[in-house]
Amino acid sequence: MKNKFDVVVIGAGPAGYVAAIRCAQLGLSTACVDAWCDKNGNASLGGTCLNVGCIPSKALLESSELFTQAQHEFSNHGINVSLAELDLAQMLRRKDKIVKDLTKGISGLFQSNKVEYFSGLGKVHSPGQVSIKKSGSNETIIVHAKNIILATGSRSTEIPSAVIDKQTIVDSSGALEFDQVPKTLGIVGAGVIGLELGTVWRRLGSKVILFEALPSFLPSADREIASNALKIYQNQGLEFRFNSKVVSCEVNKAVVVHTEEQGQAKTQEVDRLVVAVGRKPNSEHLTTPQVKLEIDAAGFVRVDDQCKTNIEHVYAIGDLVRGPMLAHKGSEEGMMVAELIAGHFARVNYDNIPSVVYTHPELAWVGQTEQSLIAQGRDYRAGVFPFAASGRARAAGDTSGLVKVIADAKTDRILGVHMIGPHCSELIMQAVIAIEFSASAEDLALTMFAHPTLSEAFHEAALAVDNRAIHIAKAKRA
Ligand code: FAD
Ligand code: NAD
Repeated sequence: MKNKFDVVVIGAGPAGYVAAIRCAQLGLSTACVDAWCDKNGNASLGGTCLNVGCIPSKALLESSELFTQAQHEFSNHGINVSLAELDLAQMLRRKDKIVKDLTKGISGLFQSNKVEYFSGLGKVHSPGQVSIKKSGSNETIIVHAKNIILATGSRSTEIPSAVIDKQTIVDSSGALEFDQVPKTLGIVGAGVIGLELGTVWRRLGSKVILFEALPSFLPSADREIASNALKIYQNQGLEFRFNSKVVSCEVNKAVVVHTEEQGQAKTQEVDRLVVAVGRKPNSEHLTTPQVKLEIDAAGFVRVDDQCKTNIEHVYAIGDLVRGPMLAHKGSEEGMMVAELIAGHFARVNYDNIPSVVYTHPELAWVGQTEQSLIAQGRDYRAGVFPFAASGRARAAGDTSGLVKVIADAKTDRILGVHMIGPHCSELIMQAVIAIEFSASAEDLALTMFAHPTLSEAFHEAALAVDNRAIHIAKAKRA
C-alpha cells in the first residue's frame, strides 16, 4: 500500500472529505484517515454531519412534519385521511437508510477520485508524517505527507449536572434514536439542536420543556426574528424555561431535573432529558508532544484566514477551528485549503455564511443584524415584508413569518437579510448570492421575480427598503 502522499487529511466529515476530494481533483495524491464507526462497528464516512447530525436530524424533521400535516392540516385542504398513525420504528429505519446510502456515497466518491481511505485514528507524528492506528487492530503505521489537513470536528459538550447515561439522559445522537416517544422530554439548551430536535419530538407527541441558561435564545439571530420565533414555538406547544440553570438530576425510570430559575429552586420530572448545550472541538491528542501545535483556550486549533496553523504545511478546518460550527463553512474551508496547496488563489468570505434553523417555520439569516449595525453606529435602512401578504404563502396555508432586508443607508448595499417562514432555508440563498455579488437593495427591487412564489416576499422586502413595497397597505418602516 502506498505510504507517501501530497496531502493527508485527518477526519472525513464535511470539512475533511470535501478537502480530500478537491485535493484529488487538483491532481494531488491524497489520503484521508477517519475514525468514525457506526453502531455495528462498521467504518462510516461523513463525520458528525452525515452520521448523527445534519442528515438524520433533517430526515426526522421531514417525517415528523408530514405526520403533523396529515394529523392537523390535510383536512383543511379537503383531504380526509383516516386516523394518521405513527410507526416510529419505520421512521427511524428510513432515517438510518438515508444515512447509510449517503455515507456509502462518500466511499464511492473517494474511490472514483482515487482518494486513499484509512479507517483509524490519525495523529501528526511530526511535520510531514502522520501515524494511523488502524480501526479494530493494534497496528499503527506511518505515512508521509507533504501537507496535512486537520479536520477532526467536534463533539457534544457535557455538563456535570446532567451526566449522559445514553438511556434516560442523552446527547443529540441519543435524541435521534428514541425507540418510543417520550411523554415528557426535557432539553437542556434552547439552541439550534434543542429547537430542531425538540420540534421533532413535539410533533410526534412529546410535551417538550427547554431549560435555557440565558434570558433569551438564538443570540446571533435578528431580535425581531427571534421574538417572532419564540411566539410561534410557544403556540406550537414548546415550553421555554429561560434563566434556568440545571443544578442536578436524579435518574430512576424518569429524570428529576433540579433547576435554579431566577434564584428559585425548582423541580421538573421528565421521561427523557437531552443535553444540547453546544459542542467542543476534537483537538486533544492530535499530535505527538514534540509537535507544538497552537490551540486556544477554548480548545480550537489556531489558524489564520487561510486555515494555516503555526506549523508549516499543516492546515486545520471545520468545527476544529474558529467560526460557526456549520457543515457548509467547513466544506468551504476544505475547498479553499485544497486550492491553496495546489498553488491557486482561494478565500472564504466569512462575512457571508448563511445560518438556518430547520424548524417549521424555518429561520434563516446572513450578514449583519440591526443590533450589530446599531452597535457599530452604522446607518442603515430596513424593509420588511410579511408572508401573510404573499399569495403563494396563502395558497400553501403557510403564512407565518416575514423577510427583512437591511441595506446601507448611503450606498444601498445589502448588509443583511433575515427571514422566518416557509422554505426560508432555500430562500436565504438568494440573499447569499446577492451579497456575494455586492448587490444593492435597488438591484433586487429592479429584478423580476416569478409570480406566485415565496421569493416575491424577498423582492417586496427589498422594495420596502425604499418604502415602495406593493402588496402591503403601508410600508412598515419609515
Ligand atoms: P465532523 O463532521 O465532526 O467530522 C470529523 C470527523 O473526524 C469524524 O468522522 C471523526 O470521527 C473524525 N476524527 C476525529 N478525530 C480523529 C482522529 N484523530 N483521526 C481520524 N479521524 C478523526 N450543520 C449544518 O451546517 N447544518 C445542519 O443542519 C446541522 N445540523 C446538525 C444537527 C446535529 C444534531 C448536530 C450534532 C450537528 C449539526 N450540524 C449542522 C453541525 C455539523 O454537523 C458540523 O458543523 C459538521 O459536521 C462539522 O464538520 P467537520 O468535518 O468539521 O467535523
Ligand atoms: P448552541 O450553541 O446553538 O446552543 C446551546 C444553547 O445552550 C445556548 O442557548 C446556551 O445558552 C445554552 N446553554 C449552555 N449551557 C447551558 C446550561 N448549562 N444550561 C442551560 N442552557 C445552557 O449549541 P447546540 O444547539 O448544542 O448546537 C451545537 C452546534 O451545532 C451549533 O454550533 C450549531 O451551529 C450546530 N448545529 C447547526 C444546525 C443548523 O445549522 N441548523 C443544527 C444543529 C446544530
